Amino acid sequence: MKITGFRVYQVDLPLHEGNYAWSEGKSVDVFDSTVVEVLTDSGHSGVGEVCPLGPVYLPAFAAGARVGLAELCPQLLGHNPLELGRLNRTMDAAMKGHPYVKSAIDVACWDILGKQAGLPVCSLLGGRYGDDVVLYRAISQQPAAQMAANVKGYRDEGYRRFQLKVGGDPNEDIERIRAAREILEPTDKLVADANTGWTMHEAMRVAGAVADLDVYIEQPCESYRQCLSVRRNTQLPFVLDEVIDSIDAILVAASDCAMDVVNIKISKFGGLTKARQARDLCVSLGVAMTIEDTWGGDIVTAAISHLAHSTPTEFLFTSTDFNSYVTQSIADGAPQREDGRMRAPTSPGLGVELRREVLGDPVFSIDF
Ligand code: MG
Repeated sequence: MKITGFRVYQVDLPLHEGNYAWSEGKSVDVFDSTVVEVLTDSGHSGVGEVCPLGPVYLPAFAAGARVGLAELCPQLLGHNPLELGRLNRTMDAAMKGHPYVKSAIDVACWDILGKQAGLPVCSLLGGRYGDDVVLYRAISQQPAAQMAANVKGYRDEGYRRFQLKVGGDPNEDIERIRAAREILEPTDKLVADANTGWTMHEAMRVAGAVADLDVYIEQPCESYRQCLSVRRNTQLPFVLDEVIDSIDAILVAASDCAMDVVNIKISKFGGLTKARQARDLCVSLGVAMTIEDTWGGDIVTAAISHLAHSTPTEFLFTSTDFNSYVTQSIADGAPQREDGRMRAPTSPGLGVELRREVLGDPVFSIDF
């Protein structure tokens, strides 16, 4: 099989809540997502999606994804989309770094592989564990009382895991954590995610002030060393996210006992091929994971669901249904949350069908 063309689409994904805010005053009103369709000479095509969390979260931005795709895609024409390992090496040889540019291409080729094999991507990634996966809800940063009310609202919808966006003023963050934990049941899990927003002394103040609570601390500071310092001085369970962007980062952090949970974001690693490698390594190391991405719509959510559902249940801390945060559906067949849980589609490939009437014309096409 050969890759014969690419279609690259841009789509806006507005938020149901109107806005999503996290540490240090950062926020997004409308997500700018990029959809890649990979065409082949077999009649099968595949789809992938990449949606950075604005330009201020990771070293990635939406227009950059499209510029990178325009650079990279022509160099992949004629390559076999079924040979994912070779394809990834070709992408890495053609473009250094920029994993988020490569992610949607890799995911689209997994979609093609699944369709060719007649199997859902979940099966190809290792097999389906259990009936479904448990989702978390990210709670956008607001005053403590409003965030607690949102936790209650989403709990009423069925969620049992919550990721509280802190990383603001430490005194307010202490209030936010206490107010949210107050309304949860003992079996619910609460993560205080600072998204790199605290300095070390601020992180230590907050961790100390909530040390009596059942709460996880996630990515308190900017650098790995800063996070490690906080980790070594708190008893609270500890999650690393932004600094975990490679196999090497996982190995170093595991060796330092720097975390109890890591967040595996598909586009941060460059697609499902490398995210699966990271996932399998974490299983071998005994590190639980949140399986997710930076953001996205139906296609990202489907890709997440396949990786999450093929992760041994005891190592899947939680996962996410980003398509339920946004008002725009871009594909049919994507997982839909039920009682705070979702399941990977069972049809071949990712199990999604583009809604072409929503995507409109491609922003660019590349053909043999
Ligand atoms: Mg995080």
